[in-house]
Amino acid sequence: MNIALIAHDKKKDDMIRFVVAYKKIFEKHSLFATGTTGTKIQEATGLDVHRFCSGPLGGDQEIGAYIANNNMDMVFFFRDPLTAQPHEPDVTALLRLCDVYSVPLATNMGTGEVLIRGLEQGDIDWRNIVHGNTDRVTEI
Ligand code: PGA
Repeated sequence: MNIALIAHDKKKDDMIRFVVAYKKIFEKHSLFATGTTGTKIQEATGLDVHRFCSGPLGGDQEIGAYIANNNMDMVFFFRDPLTAQPHEPDVTALLRLCDVYSVPLATNMGTGEVLIRGLEQGDIDWRNIVHGNTDRVTEI
């Protein structure tokens, strides 16, 4: 599965703890992230992460394009609900596309726990069946 990881600045520590805790699951999948989040995850875990632009510089939109092209299977987007973001329109657009394409999305660690465990036990395998995967990009 292709998995996107994004965390606003005040949620980056949460994201790193989360990926460290579930490294054994994440390492079986292809990981994608916005720039700063991806760098921090790589440093903390040693996992291979494809990094897009930083979120405020277009990274959220790049991930949105992957979703629109059926190339992203799950999104972990740990949002900071208490701080105004300069790229709020991009954030909203990304969340909207997850809903348009029914891509599983966790916006906080609580839901993240459920999604990652569901992924491990095969609950997300419908992504392969419903959409097929002949045109999918699995590696960059
Ligand atoms: P960043 O972007 O990982 O480059 O900090 C995240 C965001 O704010 O969307």
